[in-house]
Amino acid sequence: MRVRGAKLLPGARSGRRPLKFLGMILKSPKKSEPFFRKRRERLRSKIVGLHLDGALITNINNVSYLSGFAGTSAMMVITPGKDFFFTDFRYTSQAQTEVIGPEIIEYKDPAAPVLQLVKEEKMATLGFEADHVSVTRAEKIKKELGGATFQATTGLVESIRIIKDEPEIEAIKALLSMLAETFPVAIELIRPGAIERDVALELEYRLRKLGADGPAFDFILASGARSAIPHGIASEKIISTDEMVTLDWGAKALGYYSDNTRTIALGNVDSELLKIYDIVLEANRAAIEFVRPGVTTKEIDNVARSIIKKAGYGGAFGHGTGHGVGLDIHENPRVSWNDGSVVEDGMVFTIEPGIYLPKKGGVRIEDMVIVTKTGHELLSGNIPKDLIRL
Ligand code: ZN
Ligand code: ZN
Repeated sequence: MRVRGAKLLPGARSGRRPLKFLGMILKSPKKSEPFFRKRRERLRSKIVGLHLDGALITNINNVSYLSGFAGTSAMMVITPGKDFFFTDFRYTSQAQTEVIGPEIIEYKDPAAPVLQLVKEEKMATLGFEADHVSVTRAEKIKKELGGATFQATTGLVESIRIIKDEPEIEAIKALLSMLAETFPVAIELIRPGAIERDVALELEYRLRKLGADGPAFDFILASGARSAIPHGIASEKIISTDEMVTLDWGAKALGYYSDNTRTIALGNVDSELLKIYDIVLEANRAAIEFVRPGVTTKEIDNVARSIIKKAGYGGAFGHGTGHGVGLDIHENPRVSWNDGSVVEDGMVFTIEPGIYLPKKGGVRIEDMVIVTKTGHELLSGNIPKDLIRL
């Protein structure tokens, strides 16, 4: 028989007000315009540095980053002297409100206006985003470009996106405060008898009520032996007594994400699980403490990893220590043993060491940090992480 948690049905009592301050800058095209312009200027100097006559931007997150456009179908061409924004008729009026600066061009066939532009602007070399354009499409455009070169680039916009500016930081902070607001709800709901999926669904609902556009990803709510699966998406499993429960949840709004994980203990959990909790917490705190400009993400990973290794659980921590978060839930920098990124002021990433013991259970503790001039700011500091035992 299924036992449903008593407090799972969404009710009027969850009537918290949406976060009014969410993305104050980003929500106003006028206020955000200088930031978008600055981003395009940074891209422009890269284009000039690469001796390109223009760059075709087709990754929609990059388009949105450079223009403020919130729709789902558009592309841009940035040249050393001018910015062009292309979309189809479904989005033209939206673009006219959201996109300030670039010339807005409506298309029926997306390739046609780009080809025309290359001709008109007499471009010899047009860069494109090789990570985003299929080989077939690239080959087709290459043929149609005539004498002009269609040159593959990688990470052109992403390398700018790695450093967050004021509106981005504001949005990410607001999205994390939503997680802080919903954590007490999670603690209330994660009880023996509750179904993992029901808890996840209720948290999603609460986040939306607070102003989120939706969940950042399918929430991980993994209880008991399932907590040993690093990506154990909430299932039909009934949460039981004497279990470790891992909750990895996040909110999405204005194109941005938040991402956080806490593990809590119900009843009398296995003593080894309590032990690994302390190890993971130590690794999490030490790695966060180490974050500052100038160190590499590999070194940060090593701080967490060596603590877990020294405790004898190196083999049970199979993933990287963290990842950048922004317009993608997983983006650069990667905080991992195989990433040599140098940490810079304005980077935002997670620190999320974990230990997973098959058939027994696991622990992961994830926070988000922003790198400051002198060190770091812990963005999820108001979500408690000393072990909560219920
Ligand atoms: Zn996460
Ligand atoms: Zn994460």
